Amino acid sequence: MYKPTLDYAQQQDKEDKLAHLRAQFHIPKDAKGNDWLYFTGNSLGLQPKQTQQYIQQELDDWAKYGVEGHFEARNPWMPYHEFLTNSMAKIVGAKPLEVVVMNTLTTNLHLLMVSFYQPTKAKYKIVIESDAFPSDRYAVQSQLKFHGFDTEEGLIEWKPREGEELLRIEDLEKIVDEQGDEIALLLIGGVNYYTGQYLDIKCIAEIGHAKNCMVGIDLAHGAGNISPELHDSGVDFAAWCTYKYLNSGPGSLAGLFVHEKHAHNKELPRFAGWWNHNKETRFNMRQPFDVMPGAEGWQLSNPPILSMAAIRASLDMFEEVGMEALRAKSEKLTGYFEYLINQIDTDRIKIITSSNPKERGCQLSIQVKNADKSLHKKLTENNIITDWREPDVIRCAPVPMYNSFEDVYRMVEILKTLL
Ligand SMILES: *Cc1c(COP(=O)(O)O)cnc(C)c1O
Repeated sequence: MYKPTLDYAQQQDKEDKLAHLRAQFHIPKDAKGNDWLYFTGNSLGLQPKQTQQYIQQELDDWAKYGVEGHFEARNPWMPYHEFLTNSMAKIVGAKPLEVVVMNTLTTNLHLLMVSFYQPTKAKYKIVIESDAFPSDRYAVQSQLKFHGFDTEEGLIEWKPREGEELLRIEDLEKIVDEQGDEIALLLIGGVNYYTGQYLDIKCIAEIGHAKNCMVGIDLAHGAGNISPELHDSGVDFAAWCTYKYLNSGPGSLAGLFVHEKHAHNKELPRFAGWWNHNKETRFNMRQPFDVMPGAEGWQLSNPPILSMAAIRASLDMFEEVGMEALRAKSEKLTGYFEYLINQIDTDRIKIITSSNPKERGCQLSIQVKNADKSLHKKLTENNIITDWREPDVIRCAPVPMYNSFEDVYRMVEILKTLL
């Protein structure tokens, strides 16, 4: 059904019901004013044009009201994080009680491990993917160390088989079957940042829970990209950033999910601050600590409103479009990208991401034999922004919010000439 022509790509854009969204983003341009072909929404999402106005409103209200803005601002700052909860919960398939926006991703992972990594002498090991994002690896290593365990011995890696790139769920099952009595936690990337593999998180939760292991999911590459249905999956906790597919700006705040089954457990160990204390008596200042139910019960501080305003601007777009429509376009767009790459007459290229649309988001990780970083440099000189991973992988993410079929077509045409 796909065709390898510019006409076809442009026709797809004409028929695309989400094509108008592109104009609602700032697309970076070269010195001559040509749009970049931007394929790194998996690293830093582009800026929605309305973001500036959302932030400006809070700056204006701060100027106008000072401290009274906590109550008098058009969007009062006191409950500001609550304005984000419903939309964010929808994006990850959770109940509002289960979700909060706070801190940054790695910080949230640590706070969640304070509660959900409770090792004993016998059951203390942590399972991660061998290709886990470095920050996640460092985070679990430091947790092991913090609890007095050896980081080598305590860390179990779920690896692809010899000669393969993708993980097999049956290999995780085997690890947990054999060593589950020693494993306290599985912390897995729902969509792997390197291969783009989308794992079956419900299955991971079942595997872990069968041996009484806690299960946490890092959704940095999942939120806004795939529909993870966190509540139904049954995972204990999850965290994700908002600056990748959620287009909320560099270093913006992160999301946190704690499953409803833990929402009312006041006995869980956790750190405290005034922002996870009961809202009703927070300003009474002399009350003993009384933790809030649900994900809000992991907050510590009053949050940065300017960053939350950027998140709100973006979530309002997601609310309007819906993940279902985005995902439908995404499957088609990435399918087209895959089709065009497979048309290139060379044996130098291999897509390591799964060819099954249900096992990937929008990203394709393309391995180029005998390539080095000069290929990435040449792509950049041609206005194609991709992400290079040593030794030989280009990660490209056509994002359904703002990438077009024409972007994908032009990118592959240029890649062809560079090979
Ligand atoms: C992007 C990313 C991070 C980044 O962590 P920060 O705390 O936001 O700097 C961590 N883990 C994964 C899997 C990521 O993709």
